[in-house]
Amino acid sequence: PVSSTDQIEPHKICVCVRKRPLNKQEIIRKEIDVVTIPGNGALLVHEPKQKVDLTKYLDNQIFHFDYSFDETATNGLVYNFTAKPLVQSIFEGCMATCFAYGQTGSGKTHTMGGDFTGKQQNSAKGIYALAAQDVFTHLNHRKYAKLDVSAYVSFFEIYNGKVFDLLNNKAKLRVLEDDRQQVQVVGLEEVCVTTTEEVIRMIQTGSACRTSGQTSANANSSRSHAVLQIVLRRNDRATTLHGKFSLVDLAGNERGTDVCSNDRSTLVETAEINRSLLALKECIRSLGKNSEHIPFRMSTLTKVLRDSFIGEKSRTCMIAMVSPGMASCEYTMNTLRYADRVK
Ligand code: ADP
Ligand code: MG
Repeated sequence: PVSSTDQIEPHKICVCVRKRPLNKQEIIRKEIDVVTIPGNGALLVHEPKQKVDLTKYLDNQIFHFDYSFDETATNGLVYNFTAKPLVQSIFEGCMATCFAYGQTGSGKTHTMGGDFTGKQQNSAKGIYALAAQDVFTHLNHRKYAKLDVSAYVSFFEIYNGKVFDLLNNKAKLRVLEDDRQQVQVVGLEEVCVTTTEEVIRMIQTGSACRTSGQTSANANSSRSHAVLQIVLRRNDRATTLHGKFSLVDLAGNERGTDVCSNDRSTLVETAEINRSLLALKECIRSLGKNSEHIPFRMSTLTKVLRDSFIGEKSRTCMIAMVSPGMASCEYTMNTLRYADRVK
């Protein structure tokens, strides 16, 4: 539905939807594709009123977003319309954030970190790597030579409200707020980077760290938020912050409705994910309204992203991922409603 040539101007909030193709299991189960993207940023979900009769769609739900990407869209195309304008913005001193939101299995990690084939991760074509590549292109550009900045990368995970450094053996880190309301993740590894290859290696090491020790990689990572930050610092003695880009692979939102568990740790996880996704929604909404009070203290996620919610220099993009199958219908509706709410 979109061509890759025209791009949006960076603006405060850009909300997009991306639909992945039906996967093998869904095709084997003969699942019906219930999500249609007719173009012009509209998106249609056929929500059957009677779950038993899968062939009769009684009500069509229509949503409109800045962009809707269908199953033929590549990561590169999605990148061009979402994160790419934000890369430019950090050179202009902005605090940019790009979120991947959606249920587990909808394509958040595929979009952000690249595709996994077995244990191999092809990160080169994910938004993380594409953004890094553009950062280096900008750094080497004449236009920004006088800026005299360097790029630094950090990569961490937020699980149950606690921060773990993915570039430092999952070291548990403290989040502190000083009396000027500046939030700091104490001891977070920040590595000066000069090539895309270096960043790709860090993404792979960090992602492996994120999923180790669990039987199912996806099951584990779906309970945590992963945050890759690309920070521009001036090459002065104080290495002053110039701009920051946070790329967030959010925890799966299905837990919001999935509370039929007696396992205490699952309940704690669920409560924490709900709390942070609710906090995120509130923060983005108050950003859109230019409101004075930003409830960033509601969760660790919004606390560490505080910079991104304050002031004129913040830029936000959310990519809501949806699975096309009938069985995911309810989650898809939840995702679209959430995305609709932050517009
Ligand atoms: P999530 O991180 O949201 O839980 P993943 O990114 O791990 O979901 O995606 C689940 C599976 O679907 C993976 O095997 C991934 O490769 C595949 N997938 C996701 N999005 C796409 C897409 N746009 N095209 C092809 N395969 C996809
Ligand atoms: Mg994932």
